[in-house]
Amino acid sequence: MSKLFIFLFFLLSFVVSGKPKNIEILVQKVSIDSLKRYEFTLASDEFGGRLTNSNVGLLTTNYISNRFKNSGLKAVLENGTSFYQKFQVDYKEPLLSKQQANKNLAIKLKTQDKAEYLAQNVIGVLLGQNTNAKHIVITAHHDHIGSDEDGIKYGADDNGSGISALIEISRIFGEAAKKHIHLKRTLVFISTDAEEKKLVGSDYYVNNPVLPINRTYCNVNLDMIGRVDSLHALNPNLSNYIYCIYQDSSKAVFNDSYLNQINNKYSALELDERYNKDDGNYKVSNLINRSDHYSFLKKGVPSIWLFSGFHDDYHQTTDTADKIRYPELKKRIQFVMALIWDLANN
Ligand SMILES: [Zn+2]
Repeated sequence: MSKLFIFLFFLLSFVVSGKPKNIEILVQKVSIDSLKRYEFTLASDEFGGRLTNSNVGLLTTNYISNRFKNSGLKAVLENGTSFYQKFQVDYKEPLLSKQQANKNLAIKLKTQDKAEYLAQNVIGVLLGQNTNAKHIVITAHHDHIGSDEDGIKYGADDNGSGISALIEISRIFGEAAKKHIHLKRTLVFISTDAEEKKLVGSDYYVNNPVLPINRTYCNVNLDMIGRVDSLHALNPNLSNYIYCIYQDSSKAVFNDSYLNQINNKYSALELDERYNKDDGNYKVSNLINRSDHYSFLKKGVPSIWLFSGFHDDYHQTTDTADKIRYPELKKRIQFVMALIWDLANN
């Protein structure tokens, strides 16, 4: 054996062994161009505010399922033929009025009874090496609030940012798997629907999981991770942060020292834990039920919500793709990837 061959053998065994080196390479693959492509599609006029139970909702889930397919994720619904988990949404508010629907021909009014199966989570699975190990569920919601007389609520941050992250992470881990770089645990990627209708999609999932809920190691939820809030906007040096929101009951998996250990190794964000301190305005109890991780928490699954904070464009027509802070979004995704990698290999 030549020395070169021995060197290549050791290099190869290092690369496939799941050691940190892999993730250092993988996080470099997060692409701002890709993130912009996803964001400018999801938050476009054509996608019309991604209302649950509408044809723009279907356009959205079709787009995401195609991305999951390209990433090499496995469809596990309907005997492995579908990425869609359909469910009924019980609306307590009217769908688009005829007048609003006429304003935008792309949005065709559906009747309530015909619309009942149109809400759907998009679920794709990346099998881990150890299928007996507990799995990890990564969630982000794709639905937003559609449009009204003020115009389209684009929802670029809420939650085009989380979906862009979900797609990008699936792409990079999926491509790695094609090159035989695997994680130990299985990852279940879920783009949830009807989050804006009080977490209906994630609630449906935890009661109808594709893998047993008591074999779920943890949930990582991404909702609004693309902007810089007023608490961090004044000083440009402070823009690289993320809020980590979790409850004491999740501390066996998610805690300050563990998260900082990952962050110090692979990313250099400020992990802002102010919402976890039960003092002043920043009580964890104020935010803990505001996104899909809460459905998992209620089932006893350790859960974390990664979040970059509220802003004036929240649920307005001005939450647009051009306002996303792409370099910050990229760094946050790199942190999330490193976190998932570590969780999935331990
Ligand atoms: Zn949201």
